[in-house]
Amino acid sequence: MKIPFVDLHAQYLTIKQEIDKAIADVIAQSAFIRGPYVDAFEEAWARALGVKRCVSCANGTDALYIAMRALGVKPGDEVITSAHSWISTSETITQAGGRVVFCDTDEETFTIDPADIERKIRPATVGIIPVHLYGQPADMDPIMAIARKHKLWVIEDCAQAHLAKYKGQFVGTFGNVATFSFYPGKNLGAYGDAGCAVTNDDRLADWMTTFARHGGKGEHVMEGINSRMDGFQGAILNVKLPHLSAWTKARQRVAAKYDHFLEGVGDIGKPEVAAGCEHVYHLYVIRTEKRDSLRKHLTDAGVATVLNYPKALPFYPAYAYLGHEPADFPVAYANQSCILSLPIYPEITDEMIEFVVEHIDSFFQKSENPLGIEGQLAERHG
Ligand SMILES: *Cc1c(COP(=O)(O)O)cnc(C)c1O
Repeated sequence: MKIPFVDLHAQYLTIKQEIDKAIADVIAQSAFIRGPYVDAFEEAWARALGVKRCVSCANGTDALYIAMRALGVKPGDEVITSAHSWISTSETITQAGGRVVFCDTDEETFTIDPADIERKIRPATVGIIPVHLYGQPADMDPIMAIARKHKLWVIEDCAQAHLAKYKGQFVGTFGNVATFSFYPGKNLGAYGDAGCAVTNDDRLADWMTTFARHGGKGEHVMEGINSRMDGFQGAILNVKLPHLSAWTKARQRVAAKYDHFLEGVGDIGKPEVAAGCEHVYHLYVIRTEKRDSLRKHLTDAGVATVLNYPKALPFYPAYAYLGHEPADFPVAYANQSCILSLPIYPEITDEMIEFVVEHIDSFFQKSENPLGIEGQLAERHG
């Protein structure tokens, strides 16, 4: 058996007729860029989250950039974000003209540590970008309290957390703006690049709409950028959105099975879900001191795994200029060498999950008892 890390084709087969029709409709109407399908998706996604406005754009990275430009980031401004994320979160701070200030993460949840945010605030700080990493909500109550106290804006990076909930409320509805990615492998994935920013602030939504479309269609009221969602992606997302809550439940069922089977296996640390939070398991990430040898064992057995991510952001060459040391982010740094993402997607079968777990089990049995039962007996009997 081969277990892929994700299987987008398996999902396509479950909705093939609807998808094929949606694609044919876009071609029949030449609705290639924006157009009625994209408008319909913007409305449907805003309604699903319970926010006033959804501004579509080309991808989740652009959404972060557009949001920061809308909030007026200017040279010298400092923006605080998590040391543990995909680089989109921090590279767009620099692109918008700001300075990246990293925070360490919480030991249990992999999300930004609010206590470290407080320590990093300076007069130049203008905003905070918490990331709902792996599908687990960041601790929004203290984050919003810090933002109010210091008059900072908040952009939630929801690229991995469609429909995740913090204390009963969808992530993406706490900050001034929230950004989503619809990259194919995300929990709600298009068949190409796509993204959006959502907000309850009409003024910000109007500005982002104008900026992302060359500063206005007829009258260019400003210089903007070209960041549009294409019609195929809008039409595909309209087909997929009604399935999202069932797919989310399926991911949660997979996670519950892993949780159950991995209880007490070796030194494995399972993903911890913070009280009052609903994790949507974009990724199922375990921790073990034997990460590299376990990963090799699983690869040899045909089980694909991924490191999300091989390093914490401050330790990539791109941020060498900040001169950080491991001691600056002890939690994020320690995670570098022990995190491992296991295969998870709505269509993975029980049989496949059991196959993954059996090979994790056999790895730890072997490493705790290297000769195996037969080897031990042979040794004892000389
Ligand atoms: C995927 C991702 C993004 C960027 O989304 P793209 O659509 O790939 O540009 C941003 N932040 C995080 C945390 C992500 O996982």
